[in-house]
Amino acid sequence: MSRYHNLVLILLVFVLSLFAPAESDGQLIRRVLLLNSYNRDMLWTDSITRGVSEVLATDSTSYKMYVEHMDTKNYFSPEYLELLKEQYRFKYNDVAFDAIIVSDDNAANFAVNNRSLFNDAPIVFCGVNDLEFHKKHDLPNMTGILEFTDIRLTIEAALRLQPDLKRMYVVVDDTTTGQLSRKLINDILPDYRGRLDFAWIDKMSMSEVKKTISNLAQGSAVLLASFNRDRLGNWYTYTESITQLRSVTSVPIYGMWDFYLGRGIVGGMITSGYRQGVMAAEIALDIMNGRPASDIEVITQDSNQYMFDLKELESFELNPDLIPKNSVVINKPINLYERYRSQILIAGLLVLMMILFIFKLLASNRARRNVENELEEMNKYQESLIEQRTEELVQRSRELEMANHELKKVDNLKTAVVNTVSHDLRTPLTSVLGFCKIIERDFIKYFEPLCVDHAELGERSERIRKNLGIIESEGERLTRLINDFLDLSKIDAGDIAWNDVSIDTNELFVQALPILEGYFTATAVKFHMDVDEDLPRIVADPDRLLQVLNNLVGNAAKFTFHGSVNLRVTTTEGGWLKATVSDTGMGIPEEELANIFDKFYQVTQSTSNTNIVRGSGMGLAISKRIVEHYGGMISAESKHDYGSSFTFIIPTTR
Ligand code: ADP
Repeated sequence: MSRYHNLVLILLVFVLSLFAPAESDGQLIRRVLLLNSYNRDMLWTDSITRGVSEVLATDSTSYKMYVEHMDTKNYFSPEYLELLKEQYRFKYNDVAFDAIIVSDDNAANFAVNNRSLFNDAPIVFCGVNDLEFHKKHDLPNMTGILEFTDIRLTIEAALRLQPDLKRMYVVVDDTTTGQLSRKLINDILPDYRGRLDFAWIDKMSMSEVKKTISNLAQGSAVLLASFNRDRLGNWYTYTESITQLRSVTSVPIYGMWDFYLGRGIVGGMITSGYRQGVMAAEIALDIMNGRPASDIEVITQDSNQYMFDLKELESFELNPDLIPKNSVVINKPINLYERYRSQILIAGLLVLMMILFIFKLLASNRARRNVENELEEMNKYQESLIEQRTEELVQRSRELEMANHELKKVDNLKTAVVNTVSHDLRTPLTSVLGFCKIIERDFIKYFEPLCVDHAELGERSERIRKNLGIIESEGERLTRLINDFLDLSKIDAGDIAWNDVSIDTNELFVQALPILEGYFTATAVKFHMDVDEDLPRIVADPDRLLQVLNNLVGNAAKFTFHGSVNLRVTTTEGGWLKATVSDTGMGIPEEELANIFDKFYQVTQSTSNTNIVRGSGMGLAISKRIVEHYGGMISAESKHDYGSSFTFIIPTTR
């Protein structure tokens, strides 16, 4: 998980670096030199360097940091300092520093005395023990942090933590720092007279020191001022000295330096190299951003901080509640959350995402189920609708069937009525016509001669004969109507008798000619019949074929008032009989042509010709049924006012 965490950080830095301006952008780079008095392997120096570089690293594109270690703990002769000067002159001749941070007294003095080496840049000092340093060198562009080891507050903290504390053993060496500490302690000793005894552990070898502190009585403590060099001249690093002392002591060890903290001291008012480094770098930034160094007060106590090691407090059974407020406590047990914070956060995030995902799934599931339910309901509704419609359709079809049945019954009844009525009409009509003819004959034979010489009687006899003629013609018309009506009904009812025989077609037309010519006896219209020789035979009822010819030629005669009517009879390429009746009569309007073969259809146009005998609209309908009965076809062409042409074709037996 931490590898993952690192990966995320690396990616983040990479992405941010994409947006960071490059040095080549022409941006102003500030150059800062950190000049340390001591070597880099000294914890103190190392923590100052860390503090400075962390502050400058927050804006690494604007600041470039140079670090030098003068190593004056090991070398401090004037010749050595000369060599350093030469070295720095050589290295930094062309570097225009914007600020110099110096750590500890030696570097501070060196920088003040050799400002030209460093471009006369403003100086920010830290870790300087000489509390009069800045006053000695009253320079306008210099400020910084004085190192003030607050022994008094450290002792006060020890007294609070150990209410029975009676004796304080001060471990101190004879290094410069040690001597300084000794002086500071001596200064405050009178204040504790009667309250706290002080015993010096100095001028001892490491083993003597260890032996002494390993046997200390209850109510005592150790104050570690500094211990780098023992009586025998042996050197110990900060870590080595505290580690060795801590390993033998039977009482708590207090101290004022951060490099001892976390390695064995309980704590105290701590002077922190890291903290001074941070503060010095922040002051340097302020100055580089335009604030005059003279405006910035030199810092003393403010750089120190109460710091304690909880592990040490617990190991000497000291009550942590007694440490001063606002103390920094190290080695606090890290609770689970702090230790695994990033893992917990990532896991929490994942769980949250999973919960969201689950909710989303649930929601979409519910939505799907809703849609399914809706679909199901819709299906049910449609099914019920279909069922209902089907039932309705079944009901309708039942009703239609019944209506059809009723209609058939009515139709049959109608046919029966028509047949009966027609038959019953025909018989008396035949009698009427027969008697009319007898009356006419008798009248002509016996009464008309009597009226020859009598003017009035002559006139009357003339009118009687005319009226008898009207009765005759109307009777004949009525007979025709009844016959047509009867034929049509019978054909439609399938009741008509088809007396089919094999017909000599040419012979049929020879017989028909005088009958057809009869339509033209009282008119100026000429009739021509043109029949091909050797026509094929037909199997049909000759009376029905004559009926078709009569209808077509009769109509032509009826609707033609001048010109001619022609009957042309040929054989088609397919061997069918083809008869065409064409006239030069009044013609049929185009829009009515399609209807003329319908039952009872008569063209609506009016004509002034009163000679036209009113028809029944049944002739063409009967003709069509007869032609189609024999598998043939009938059609009409016409041009209004120019004439018409009717053609039928019938299969032959050749
Ligand atoms: P109708 O007994 O009235 O003649 P048809 O069925 O024979 O009945 O003819 C239907 C109608 O077709 C006629 O009323 C007439 O208007 C029209 N018609 C038939 N033949 C001709 C024709 N040769 N010239 C003009 N009109 C015709």
